[in-house]
Amino acid sequence: LFITFEGPDGSGKTTQIQQLSKTLINQGYDVVTTREPGGTRISDLIRNILLSTEYQEMQDQTEVLLYAASRAQHVHEIIIPALKENKIVLCDRYIDASMAYQSVGLGINQKTIKDINHFASSGLQPERTYMMDVSVKESQNRLLQRTSKQGEIILDRIEQKAHDYHKKVREGFLEIAKKNPQRVCLINANQPVDIISEEIVKDITSILAD
Ligand code: C5P
Ligand code: MG
Repeated sequence: LFITFEGPDGSGKTTQIQQLSKTLINQGYDVVTTREPGGTRISDLIRNILLSTEYQEMQDQTEVLLYAASRAQHVHEIIIPALKENKIVLCDRYIDASMAYQSVGLGINQKTIKDINHFASSGLQPERTYMMDVSVKESQNRLLQRTSKQGEIILDRIEQKAHDYHKKVREGFLEIAKKNPQRVCLINANQPVDIISEEIVKDITSILAD
């Protein structure tokens, strides 16, 4: 079973994945938790190039291809082998993120992003996606809270982009949820963490019971 978590920065994906992973492991399932960009040695190197604030000169085309390259390695090295062993894979971000950030956010043709990612992933699609929705304002607040704990504000290259960009990204995610009601479960991420976890566990329990 391949499950993905999507949504803007600061929407609480990582917290929910950790919670869900614990719950499923307690129930005796074999669970693999992973994230994008990253999840393998090669993908983590690509992640550093993508997110370092040092490389402001990065071109949009390069960005698209690097996300896809990171994904290709991750899908074939980690996700597909885990699924073959009947594990539950919980993945923090996947192709929907490229549709929201690179297609809607950067304004790159949807079909181009789809085709590149279809190649990169050999067409692997998640069976269920939890889309965590949060307003741009709340998302920015959470990011600032998270980073200011270390005494200074540390945002990655993408998080640093203007409010307008993040507004488009959020709209991109909402559009994906609307277009794929069967696969995508839209979650109001302004709710308390425990309420959201309950919602997700309830949903996944019904999928596992099928
Ligand atoms: O850990 P986190 O999900 O924040 O790291 C991924 C970063 O990469 C995020 O800040 C997100 O904005 C960015 N990203 C992106 N395009 C993707 C996936 C992630 O810009 N396709
Ligand atoms: Mg982030």
